[in-house]
Amino acid sequence: MFTCKQVSDSLSKGDYAKLPLAKRFFLRLHVKLCIFCGKYNRQVMDGQDMCRHFKQHEATNCKCAPELQEGQKDELKALLATESAKYPKD
Ligand SMILES: [Zn+2]
Repeated sequence: MFTCKQVSDSLSKGDYAKLPLAKRFFLRLHVKLCIFCGKYNRQVMDGQDMCRHFKQHEATNCKCAPELQEGQKDELKALLATESAKYPKD
């Protein structure tokens, strides 16, 4: 079983999905069971998962997000400008 420091070090070095299967299994087990680092390291793993999925979708030119119609981009820009004007910066 890994220590909390070993788990954090392994996760901070890069994508945990590239680690060997046995190491990945014990990392996941530690993160599931540990009350000290589990929540934080679960978020780190979730973040790495999201980045990996984004890269995969980006590489395949996935069209799962709808494209904006003509003029919708300008409407969104105007809406953002209106909303951000309500909250002026100091
Ligand atoms: Zn831990």
